[in-house]
This record gives sequence, structure tokens and C-alpha cells, in this order.
Amino acid sequence: MSLLTVGSVAFDALETPFGKTDKIIGGAATYITLAASYFTQQNNLVAVVGGDFPQEMIGLLEEHGVDTKGLEIVQDGKTFFWSGKYHEDMNTRDTLITELNVMEHFDPIIPDSYQGTEFLMLGNTVPATQKLVIERLAKRPKLIMLDTMNLWMNIALDDLKAVLKLVDLLTINDEEARLLSGEYSLRKAAKKIMAMGPKTLIIKKGEHGALLFQEDRIFFAPALPLEEVFDPTGAGDSFAGGFIGYLAATDDISFDNMKRAIIYGSAMASFCVEKFGTERLVNLSKEEINARVQEFVKLASFDIQ
Ligand code: AMP
Repeated sequence: MSLLTVGSVAFDALETPFGKTDKIIGGAATYITLAASYFTQQNNLVAVVGGDFPQEMIGLLEEHGVDTKGLEIVQDGKTFFWSGKYHEDMNTRDTLITELNVMEHFDPIIPDSYQGTEFLMLGNTVPATQKLVIERLAKRPKLIMLDTMNLWMNIALDDLKAVLKLVDLLTINDEEARLLSGEYSLRKAAKKIMAMGPKTLIIKKGEHGALLFQEDRIFFAPALPLEEVFDPTGAGDSFAGGFIGYLAATDDISFDNMKRAIIYGSAMASFCVEKFGTERLVNLSKEEINARVQEFVKLASFDIQ
């Protein structure tokens, strides 16, 4: 089944307790499409970059089977730039700089060959752009999943609420779930958020795993305890890419299959954080992914007599 991803393609500058990077390649859609590339063959991208974005990186996405026909290059514009600083716990971070640049007024054009996509991943970007993409699809996808962040809740809440009405699944972190709902209890927050539109909700809790909510059902997936975490940037996006990539590959959006997908997503996130930026995600094998998934199975299974 085909997957269409929309979202930021970016330059990131990161600071972690282990070191600092200047400008490396990042962006929600970069991580999502790379992670999804291990599952789905039809991996289409709609995004925008400036003329400063390196051609080699577009080549790298293409080597991973990502179709970049929908990647607009604004020659005289600058690529979206984000800078963040991680706290000592590596689980929380502060945004230092967000420069929307070419992303601010992006007019997402959907190539004809992307029409009819069955799975749509609206990665983190301007909520009005996410909505435009849905409106520009001739046929409603089987599953529309959306990721967003606190920035948009603070500066574009009405636009965000409008697009939430149109999606099937929302993925946000625990802090954002509390901000969006005004509830501290994640169970109460989930109820309120699902009433805003998405029938399914994933609340990510960083190194503490993720919760999947649908109607009155809940499933919990752990994160793999790793000895070393170098850079958590992109973990949420790699998670989303693995999750929706697995759903697209298996063409099954039942709750039970989402439980499996959440484990594949968590496995991709666990790889992502092992190195800086996208470094670890570009060199994976199917065997490594399957072995990692088995570690999750061992981690979370038990017998009760
Ligand atoms: P994650 O660590 O999975 O939450 O995502 C990190 C990625 O999100 C980075 O590579 C950033 O470039 C990207 N990002 C940060 N802020 C924004 C934003 N406001 N809109 C879109 N993408 C963003």
C-alpha cells in the first residue's frame, strides 16, 4: 500500500550533554520517510526546502526508495531551521530557535502519481498546510495520521483544531497531550482529545514508552532501555514512520495490528537515538530490525499461572 508523508525537511542544530552539532539534516518528514522505507515500497514525500538544501541528501532519500517528486525546492529561499537543547535526562528539551523560512508559506502540490494514496502521514509542520494536503487528495486515504507539537498549540490552535477534526489518528507526547486537553491525567486527556476528532490516539512518553488509546481500549508499549542515548531528535518521527510504514505494509488498521505497529515504531525510535541525526537510520538491515523487535517481545511478555 502506498504512503504519503508531509512534514518538515530541515536543518537542525542540537545540543546534548554529549556534544553539539552545527547544522545537520533533520526534519520530521526526513525521519518518517527513512523509517518507513524499511517497510513500504511506495514512500512518497511532499515537503519544501530552500536552495541551500544539499542535493546529496535528496539523493540519500531516493536511495532509500523515497519518491521526492513532491519535494519543492525554492531556489532563493532558506530551508526550515530548528535548534534544540536537551536536558541532562535526555528525555526533555527546549527549543532554542525555530525559523520557518520556506515552510511558512508552503503551498503543497500533490503530484498526480501520489493521488489515491491509502495511508497519509501528516508529520509535524504548519497545521494549515496539513489541512490543505487532506483537501487536495481526490480520494480520502484509509488512514490519516497526524503529528504536531506544542508550538502549533500555542500559535495556531484554531488551525490545529480544524485539521484534527479530519484525521483518524493523532500522535503527540505526554506534555503536549496535557497542554492540548488541559488535563493532567493522560486517561482524561485522551478522552478529551479523541472528542476533538481522532478516534485513535498515541501518547508518546519518551524513554517511558507509548500509550495507544482507541474508544475504551488502552495498550502500552515500552521503550527499550538502552545503555547509551546520544541524540533523541527524531525519535518521535522515526516511531511514526515505523508505525505507519508497518500498517501500510500489512494493510491492516485493526487495533490488534496497531499494537504490533507500535512495537515496530518503538524499535525504529530505539535505533534513531543511538547516533546523532539520521546517521543510524540510514544503515539498517531487516535482520537488525527483526532482532530488535524480538527484544521488545522478551522485554514485555510474562506468564501468569
Ligand atoms: P522529534 O524529535 O521526533 O519530535 O522531531 C524532531 C524534528 O522535528 C527535528 O528534526 C526538527 O527539524 C523538527 N521540528 C522541530 N520543530 C518543528 C516545527 N515547529 N515544525 C516542524 N518540524 C519541526
